[in-house]
Amino acid sequence: MSAYKKISHWLTIFLTMLMVSGPSANAQIDQPVLSCDFGDVVFDLSFSSARLNSCQQTGDAVFSVSTAPENVPINPSPWYAFKLYSETPQDITVYLHYPLSRHRYLPKISSDGVNWQPIAEQDLQVLFDEKAIKMRLQAGPDGLWVAAQEIVDNRFYDEFTSELANLDFLDRQILGLSAEGRPIYTLRTTTPAQRYVVMIGRQHPPEITGALAMTQFVERIMRDEPLANAFREQYGLLITPNMNPDGVERGFWRHNMGGIDLNRDWGPFTQPETRLMRDQLNRFLEPGMPTLSLFLDFHSTNRDIFYTPTLEVTRHLPEFTDLWLSQVQARMQQIYPEYEVEAVPGYNVDSGVSKSWISQMFGVPAITVEIGDDTPRAMIDSLAVIAAEEMMTQLLSLEN
Ligand SMILES: [Zn+2]
Repeated sequence: MSAYKKISHWLTIFLTMLMVSGPSANAQIDQPVLSCDFGDVVFDLSFSSARLNSCQQTGDAVFSVSTAPENVPINPSPWYAFKLYSETPQDITVYLHYPLSRHRYLPKISSDGVNWQPIAEQDLQVLFDEKAIKMRLQAGPDGLWVAAQEIVDNRFYDEFTSELANLDFLDRQILGLSAEGRPIYTLRTTTPAQRYVVMIGRQHPPEITGALAMTQFVERIMRDEPLANAFREQYGLLITPNMNPDGVERGFWRHNMGGIDLNRDWGPFTQPETRLMRDQLNRFLEPGMPTLSLFLDFHSTNRDIFYTPTLEVTRHLPEFTDLWLSQVQARMQQIYPEYEVEAVPGYNVDSGVSKSWISQMFGVPAITVEIGDDTPRAMIDSLAVIAAEEMMTQLLSLEN
């Protein structure tokens, strides 16, 4: 067994013991406090959304690091984010291990934490049946950010919501606090409206492409131009872009501080974050209150896909989803001739998924918008803007 494999082997055993020991297999583990200071080379983990669970030097300018989930069981969405410093500019080899998962996210690198690009093909190797990757990173004293996806952290949401709240028809409110006391911001239109569209995002912290799409989608609806202005005359909006600020802060793979997948908690409502949304939504059922027209929940997976409700449960606006998505496809194909909108209908009220609970309670279209991990970012922008425009157009024509 090579030294490298030996380390990988013991790391796996150690992390597995860490995960399954303790009061129960589902117990929350805290973010380990890691010192990854190797003198000339430092892996900085002191920023929001940072995550590595072990780090060691295995050679001259060669390091072995790993990421592990907050608790198990969990789906394979191994988040990692670190900032690599080297006193002398040099190429550094980093082996990143996924002892309890497999490779999913193509590394993104950045010199400023704002502008990101995928790692160059020749600097990445996927190893051992996707249980590890090998990266060649050009590090220097100014630091190189390396992350599973672009970092969209809590400060981003604070700024995004507070900037939009400068618009005279938008207010920012704190829907409530996460388990660790972080604010969950909601943007709410102030113009009186009889119908509402509700949007949420970031139940799952690493799902950045969904977050990028939601940001563009929301900004399109807030523009000062005829379609958006007409839409906001008729429809109120409740927008909660970051449902899981604790998970975002801690670089969690999927869960919240309770170790729970929030998008399996719509029904049980055991977690503060989902309860806040439930209470907010239940107000639409009170007499004299505006009604809910549409619910959208933004996520990411391996490709663009819209999880739609089945027609039997869609008592209100049953024609909306097909009309909307066929228009989105037609317009996307003007830019990307091969683009196909994939829509998958489903309804399982026992799943704990937001869209099924909304469908059951309100009978309105409730759609999970999944954006591909590797969908080109320019394509995400086009899709989000087109989807926002067609949502506004179709709702206005169906309900007015
Ligand atoms: Zn998700």
